[in-house]
Amino acid sequence: MKKNIAIVGAGFSGAVIANQLAHAGYNVEIFEARDHIAGNCHSERDSETGVMVHVYGPHIFHTDNERAWEFVNRFSEFKPYVNRVKAITNHRVFTLPINLLTINQFFGKTFRPAEAEAFIQSLGDKSIENPATFEEQALRFVGRELYEAFFKTYTMKQWGLHPSELPASILKRLPVRFNYDDNYFNHKYQGMPANGYTALVENVLKVPGITVHLGTRFDPAAKSDYDHVFYSGPIDAWFNHVEGRLPYRTLDFEVFRDTGDYQGNAVINYCDDSQSYTRITEHKHFSPWEQHERTVCYMEYSRQCEENDTPYYPIRQAREKAQLEKYVDLARTETNVTFVGRLGTYRYLDMDVTIHEALQTSDKFLAAAREKVPMPAFAIDPLA
Ligand code: UDP
Repeated sequence: MKKNIAIVGAGFSGAVIANQLAHAGYNVEIFEARDHIAGNCHSERDSETGVMVHVYGPHIFHTDNERAWEFVNRFSEFKPYVNRVKAITNHRVFTLPINLLTINQFFGKTFRPAEAEAFIQSLGDKSIENPATFEEQALRFVGRELYEAFFKTYTMKQWGLHPSELPASILKRLPVRFNYDDNYFNHKYQGMPANGYTALVENVLKVPGITVHLGTRFDPAAKSDYDHVFYSGPIDAWFNHVEGRLPYRTLDFEVFRDTGDYQGNAVINYCDDSQSYTRITEHKHFSPWEQHERTVCYMEYSRQCEENDTPYYPIRQAREKAQLEKYVDLARTETNVTFVGRLGTYRYLDMDVTIHEALQTSDKFLAAAREKVPMPAFAIDPLA
C-alpha cells in the first residue's frame, strides 16, 4: 500500500519535499493555512497596474548551488535579473553594497581599487580582533562613518535592536567591494522566474499523488493518520508555544500606485532616520522584460511580530537560541515528524538554501525508508 505523507506549509520547503516524495511513489497531502501556495515568495499580478507583485516583499533568486539552480530551472523559465540597490542617506543617493563608487562619492575621492582598500582599512577599528556583533563587524571592516551612514539606523529600523545586540553574521550577508561592481549578490546564478514564484511553485506541485488543501490548518493531533509529517510551520506553534513564543520581525507594506516610473529602480533603501520605513520597492523593475504604464510600490516597515501577524525574520539572539533549544529538545522526542525550513528551524534562510535543504531532507527520508531506520526530527541541525 502507498504510504501517506502530510506536509504542513506550501512554501518552497513543503513544495520541494512533496515533489520529491510524490515522484518516489508516496501519497502527499499538503495543508496550507493561507489561501495561496508559495509562502512568503508568493507573487501575483496587481489587478490595477498589471505588474507582478512580490506580495510579501522582494524575493530575488541568487545562488551558487548547482542543485538548487538546476531544480528551479526545471519548473520555470528564469529571466536575467541583477539586483542593484540604491541607498539614500543624509539627503544623498549612493549605490550598495558598499563599492568603489560608494566610497569615492561618500568621501569625495577618486581612489583606484588598491587606494580605496588601504583607505578603508585605515578607517577600520583594529582594536576589535574578533568581531562578534554586527556593530563590531562594521566598525572593524568599514569604520564609523560608513557604519553610521548606511548600517546603524537601517538596522535599528529593520531589527528594532541596536547593532551591538545583533550577530556579525547579519552584516556578513553584505559584501564590500573595491571595484565598481554594484551587483548586490556575489552568486554565480541570479534571476527571476518569468511568471513569478507562485507559478513556479505550482509547477513543482504538479505531480500525480500530491493534493493541496488551501486555507486548512493542520492539527498536530492528526499526525497519527500519516506515516510521516513534514512540518514547515513555526516550530513553537507545533508545541502550542509551551516554551513561549519565538520572536520574529514582521513587515507592513504601505502600497501606492502611480503612473510611469516612481523611483527608477527596484529597491531604494532609506538608511537614515528621515523616514521610518526601511525601503521602497517598485515591483515593475523586478520584471524589466515587461512593459507597464502604471507602477506599484511598497513602502516597507518592520516591527515586532505579534500573535496574528505573518512571521518574517527570526531574531535568534542568545536568549531566543536558548528558547529554541528547548523546542529542539521537544522536537527530538517526536516520532515521525520532521521540522523543515525557515519557520520549522527558526533560521534566516534564503530561497536557494531552503530549496537545497528540502532536497537533502527528501534524500535523507528516502534513504531512511530504504534502510528501514527512523527519519530524525531534523535533517539539518537547527542549532548549528
Ligand atoms: N543593512 C543595512 N543597510 C542597508 C541594507 C542592509 O544596515 O542598506 C543590514 C540590515 O541589518 C539587514 C542586513 O544588513 O538586515 C542584511 O541585509 P539584506 O539586504 O540581506 O536583508 P534582506 O533583503 O534579507 O531583508
